[in-house]
Amino acid sequence: MTQTPLDPNSPSSLSSVQILGLTVHDVTMASALSAMDGFIRAGSPHHVITADASMLVLAQDDEALHEIVRSADLVTPDSVGVLWAAKRLGRPLQERVSGVEIVEQLCRCSAEKGHRLFFLGAAPGVAVQAAEKMRLKYPGAQIVGTRDGYFSAEESGALIEQIREARTDALFVAMGIPKQEKWIAKHRDQLGASVLIGVGGTFDVLSGTVRRAPIVMQRARLEWLWRVLSNPRKISKVLLLPRFMRLVMRAGKQEDG
Ligand code: UDP
Repeated sequence: MTQTPLDPNSPSSLSSVQILGLTVHDVTMASALSAMDGFIRAGSPHHVITADASMLVLAQDDEALHEIVRSADLVTPDSVGVLWAAKRLGRPLQERVSGVEIVEQLCRCSAEKGHRLFFLGAAPGVAVQAAEKMRLKYPGAQIVGTRDGYFSAEESGALIEQIREARTDALFVAMGIPKQEKWIAKHRDQLGASVLIGVGGTFDVLSGTVRRAPIVMQRARLEWLWRVLSNPRKISKVLLLPRFMRLVMRAGKQEDG
């Protein structure tokens, strides 16, 4: 069955909000999963983006990234900042739909439906470990391939062939924003996969490579602060937040005015 605009799970029938000139869909985890199920049944490549505030800010200065997000098939809200912005603009979104949670849920569904998943990205060994954890947690999950995210341009061809030969339905690319989105956009028609998603640090989390915050910080709901302090890339993301907030507040005032 292919998707039609009449399909209640089709992204064209999902409501959305415009944040800094980009569409973010008002999905729940359940409706996002239904949409991805539809993409797999349709059998053609679909780019799913999990948008956080840093991505929406980076896209203001990076035309290629802006175009990729603009033309994505599904854009989910992947941060508290994006939820805040939507509320501020008078179009509150239902919930956060993160990359980590999407990977977990697609592993769970794969055990039931047999969808074939490929884990690409993170440091050598991490995707393998994440896949092992998911197979233990969701026995029967079809993880048909893994590969680290540190390969040369010359190695891309063989990797694409490996993903095709594995008859991948959903490809998770964990190489950080915007590298993963650009790699997906460049190769989307060569991979043979129906769902292509950039999932950032997801394999680090699922494999247990990232150490959790001390229990006192967890109890004080300060785990995010621990993550920021223990990963310099996260600090640069946090530094984009004030600009994100300024741009959203300015857009809100223009709408009011
Ligand atoms: N990474 C990768 N290849 C690269 C650069 C980064 O596989 O060339 C991986 C890195 O090891 C980490 C992930 O990409 O696992 C980036 O995680 P982060 O949480 O920083 O992603 P973002 O916040 O951009 O979504």
